[in-house]
Amino acid sequence: MTKVYNFSAGPAVLPEAVLQEAAAEMLDYQGCGMSVMEMSHRSSAFKGIIDQAEKDLRDLVGIPENYRVLFLQGGGSTQFAMVPMNLMRGIAVGGADGSVGHADYIVTGTWSKKALAEAQRFGDARCIATSVDTNFDRVPDMANIQVNADADYVYICMNETVNGNVLRELPDTQGKPLVADMSSCFLSEPIDVERYGLIFAGAQKNVGPAGVTIVIVREDLIPEGDLPGVPTMMQYRTHADAGSLYNTPPCYAIYICGKVFKWLKSQGGLAGMQKTNQDKAALLYDYLDKSNLFRGFVRPQDRSLMNVTFTAGDELDAAFVAEAKARGFENLKGHRSVGGLRASIYNAMPVEGVQALVEFMREFEAHHSC
Ligand code: PLP
Repeated sequence: MTKVYNFSAGPAVLPEAVLQEAAAEMLDYQGCGMSVMEMSHRSSAFKGIIDQAEKDLRDLVGIPENYRVLFLQGGGSTQFAMVPMNLMRGIAVGGADGSVGHADYIVTGTWSKKALAEAQRFGDARCIATSVDTNFDRVPDMANIQVNADADYVYICMNETVNGNVLRELPDTQGKPLVADMSSCFLSEPIDVERYGLIFAGAQKNVGPAGVTIVIVREDLIPEGDLPGVPTMMQYRTHADAGSLYNTPPCYAIYICGKVFKWLKSQGGLAGMQKTNQDKAALLYDYLDKSNLFRGFVRPQDRSLMNVTFTAGDELDAAFVAEAKARGFENLKGHRSVGGLRASIYNAMPVEGVQALVEFMREFEAHHSC
């Protein structure tokens, strides 16, 4: 087998050690005589897997007792709806009286824009700050954010996967719960959970295979009792009360996530991972800043450590992707909505992969400069 360096934005590269371990127990999980894929989610073996995964995640991140961890399905896109369905007052509390809920969204790219549009189906969701005018090449100045007094929550996308920007500062939410989509930066650096009301992340970027979405939610934000008109599966209460086992969960994806949590611990935890991620991103951005051919899309102070967006110019981008692929660098094409190039360098991308990519970019530049 020829191993490639996979720069996909997700599903994405996973730690090789995790995949090897999973392969070794693929047919017989710890003497059960069956694969985790074949196991009942009600079995004691699977209960052990999901409990251990939650415990390791709690240790790794430092999740306080008053936050619940949920392993759900439906991806980040389902959270775009579940957040307003559960946190907007008009729906969650007293929806029957016809009152409308409110929420403030900070729109920094493709995913927060989608989340806002989805929330507008449920109530008065407003954009209170955006960098759309500059094609999301930055994030708005958090010092200027004005949160509305009637907002039920404030929403951010921490790391915009398509555009390649990141929020380094959090807005002052005036005491309103902060909801953060961390799909593409979850577990890439330490998280101060208490600054958030709710964090969600699709696993398929930094945490595991596609199929599981992790939600960390402060207990008091989970509505008590049934929400009239909200499907049972869309209520956080349903999953919190059932320990994420209300229905069949994505068992195998949870099992792999559990292994990734242990792997992260072995890498020095989130602080260790942050240092490695900073070093990897610096290799690429330093080269981009010096290059006469390539140009980064995002201004330096707002650059993502996970998704590096850049271009070699309209005429050369396609050639770059093709030549890179021939050399074993996969998935460097930018998102179809914005074009250009993108290298996603999540936790599991080894530093050697980034070094090799930069070396290849140097060669490409030498061949294509006049
Ligand atoms: N949020 C972010 C930041 C993403 O990058 C993505 C997908 O790439 C999504 C949400 C949507 O995730 P899903 O495809 O799991 O619904």
